[in-house]
Amino acid sequence: CGIIAIVGQTAVADRLIDGLRRMEYRGYDSAGLCTLTTEDTHGGSPGPQLIRRRAEGKLANLVAEVARDPAPGNTGIAHTRWATHGAPTRANAHPHATPEVALVHNGIIENYRSLRAELAARGRIFQSETDSEVVAHLVSEQVECGATPWQAVQTVLPLLRGAFALAIVFRMHPGLVIGARQGSPLVVGFGDREAYLGSDALALAALTQKVAYLEEGDRVMMTPDEVKIYDSENRPVSRPITFSGVSA
Ligand code: GLU
Repeated sequence: CGIIAIVGQTAVADRLIDGLRRMEYRGYDSAGLCTLTTEDTHGGSPGPQLIRRRAEGKLANLVAEVARDPAPGNTGIAHTRWATHGAPTRANAHPHATPEVALVHNGIIENYRSLRAELAARGRIFQSETDSEVVAHLVSEQVECGATPWQAVQTVLPLLRGAFALAIVFRMHPGLVIGARQGSPLVVGFGDREAYLGSDALALAALTQKVAYLEEGDRVMMTPDEVKIYDSENRPVSRPITFSGVSA
């Protein structure tokens, strides 16, 4: 029901949770986040990792989960869920992930049943009952076949029917978030060598008041140094940067 993403210069977990808190008024049944880190978190396994933490119920449960098992990293995505497909359980909480890709989704993927059947026929194993998880697998399939993150998302978006706002991260690209909107709002925020995505400007209030509202069909590629926005035809576009006027 609410999305926030940060590509930043400092740790993001607490800032993501703060953003989720600002969207609590929308209502939700579970919450979660995923950060990217190159730190060695569990002894061994060097190289970039997706760190995912999720909890049923109130944000306090996610906060406790992250206190028990920290989520380091300067890039991350987070979500409060209002279940439409699948019970409000931890397994159905976002982010949904494969070993290579994690994403948060607001809205409904209307053709998820047929997409899920095709993915299952290709051997993909699902961990949730959500419509959202199909998108993670579709993007991951592309990346696993050698597509760049941007190519992967461009290939998958035309396959999706319904309404969505998406924020996607990639294990091998720890300073990158890709977003897309079709029927659900998404706002880009600009910071000091940081960039943000949120379902609304309020979610970003503690981070920045410099925002640009994505238009229908827009996609965005964000790194700490650069925000590039494209329209549904994949043409680079610029959207006016405005002062949100909502303060922390
Ligand atoms: N349809 C998705 C789900 O049920 C996303 C719901 C939402 O927007 O929070 O998991």
